[in-house]
Amino acid sequence: MFKHLQVVPGDPLLALIIAHQKDTNPKKIDLGVGVYKDDNGKTPILNSVKKAEAILLEQEESKSYLGIYGAAEFEAIIQDLILGDNNPLITSGRIRSTQTPGGTGALKVAADFISANLSGARLWVSDPTWGNHESIFNSAGVEVTPYPYYDPATNGLRFDDMMTKLEAEAKEGDVLLLHACCHNPTGIDLQLEQWKVITDFVKRRDLLPLVDAAYQGFGDGLDEDLAGLRHMAANVDNMLIANSFSKNFGIYRERCGGLSVIATTSSEADAAFSIIGQAIRANYSMPPAHGAAVVYTIMSRPELKAEWEQEVAEMRNRINGLREKLVTKLAQSGVSKDFSFIKDQRGMFSYSGLTLEQVRRLRSEFSIYIADTGRMSVAGVSDDNIDYLCASIAEVVG
Ligand code: PLP
Repeated sequence: MFKHLQVVPGDPLLALIIAHQKDTNPKKIDLGVGVYKDDNGKTPILNSVKKAEAILLEQEESKSYLGIYGAAEFEAIIQDLILGDNNPLITSGRIRSTQTPGGTGALKVAADFISANLSGARLWVSDPTWGNHESIFNSAGVEVTPYPYYDPATNGLRFDDMMTKLEAEAKEGDVLLLHACCHNPTGIDLQLEQWKVITDFVKRRDLLPLVDAAYQGFGDGLDEDLAGLRHMAANVDNMLIANSFSKNFGIYRERCGGLSVIATTSSEADAAFSIIGQAIRANYSMPPAHGAAVVYTIMSRPELKAEWEQEVAEMRNRINGLREKLVTKLAQSGVSKDFSFIKDQRGMFSYSGLTLEQVRRLRSEFSIYIADTGRMSVAGVSDDNIDYLCASIAEVVG
């Protein structure tokens, strides 16, 4: 039966992690992996999460099934976080939200929903985008088409090209995937004015926006990061939002996220939500409990919520501080290229503009592990390794 099967190539980023682990050079640096790290190179458990887990250990009474949509009280937590407290959409009943296993689970359920109900819809994604977007939607039978986004010549955004392409080719009923903030892999975000232009276009062309919010709080602030998403949600009839709690609560392995659907009326939202429920049942039946219980415990206690907001701010400030330092130290190291664009990018990642050849030299000669695309995970930089990193980049860039 299985004789014809061939081993498929693994994720190149996982291969990079393994190569870094095997490297015996004490100066080695891992800028590949997409998780937050502190100045000691550790991915810490947040204090607010530890405290919530202690409460849960004490108070949890049952491990019985949760239900398809997860914990009922979690719906309001998802909506308050992504839309902001007291958003009129919440009281209108036009939005319904379900807990999912991470942002990935939310995207997979969205993909199944689109595939089964929006016949012929194509998914438009930024070029480049998070690698798993294409895999998830292709596996659900949805055709994925890129729109221009990153400009290697300027290390900036090709907004005009993006809109020209969508104007020319996006068809009514197609789905437009946007990153809410902290674009993975480039770190280049849409500005609020650009969100407004896209919102008008989406309405005019009758597209379904699907916004992926995996890094809320890592850019400029919990509310600031979703200003574009909120503008869009307030102005369109229909929208899907996939959000992740993996990064901003540091609960990666607990698999916690949310999928929200916005419809024209509350009865339409309920209908869409029931179909989403079917997709969940057929995929994984129901989500795991622990991550959502941690998030709920934090968000429903003002003192824990305040501590968590502080901890998100610390992660954000560390990354933005590192961006500033990288720009300064690269300039001081005498590098010929202008890297000042790094401080205008947001979130965990930076498209560094380093070529494949430069990335390979950094790996083989300096034990610095950066993805082949030049994407650096900024959180992997620390006060201990930044000088070596900048000197090495100067060496390969010239
Ligand atoms: N969307 C984007 C853009 C991501 O970068 C990630 C994670 O890397 C996800 C979604 C999924 O996150 P999760 O780990 O919650 O499934």
